[in-house]
Amino acid sequence: MSLTPPDAGARAVPSICRNCLAYCPIVVTVEGGRATKVEGDRAAPLFDGYTCPKGRALPAQHNDPERLLHPRKRQPDGSFVAIDAATAIAEIATRVQAILARDGPRAIALYGGTGVVSHPPGPALAKSWFRAIGSPMLFSAATIDKPAANTSTALHGNWIAGAQPFATADTWMIVGANPVIAVTPRVPIAVTGVAPRSIVSVFGAPS
Ligand code: SF4
Repeated sequence: MSLTPPDAGARAVPSICRNCLAYCPIVVTVEGGRATKVEGDRAAPLFDGYTCPKGRALPAQHNDPERLLHPRKRQPDGSFVAIDAATAIAEIATRVQAILARDGPRAIALYGGTGVVSHPPGPALAKSWFRAIGSPMLFSAATIDKPAANTSTALHGNWIAGAQPFATADTWMIVGANPVIAVTPRVPIAVTGVAPRSIVSVFGAPS
């Protein structure tokens, strides 16, 4: 399971990286209750141990002293004080209910992207909530960040012959993405040697 045997006192915990929708299988080394290392899980056949730098940086993110661990409430002078989660949710609910009563359901909007989408219950909860209050104002990366993905499909249609298998392609050209930094769900398979005959060209390197 683990690439590197953990030191004495450490344990290797299988998990998945939730930093993006590739959901790479990972093995987390936990020492003294703290995650100290993340490696790709070589036992996961489709990924074959693949992780990107963002996934391997999970322990640093997790242990960052600046990490926000509790709700904080802005004060009139702009400073923040810590409040408990139940109080925060109750105060937010009161304000959202007031907006709903005054301006109607379309005044309530929600954007879900990246980490929110890859959090398993997040999208389902958001959809249930918006269905309950009757608001259609639910947005995503596909509607805000790259609406062309939808409008171009509406204008030109879909390629209905199916996806090109990576292993049988002469060349893969990845446009507008850097699989070393961030990947789409198919790319970990592509860059882990399933198709050594192929060439991967990268154009552009957004995060
Ligand atoms: S590609 Fe990187 S960020 Fe995305 S799930 Fe895999 S390790 Fe995590």
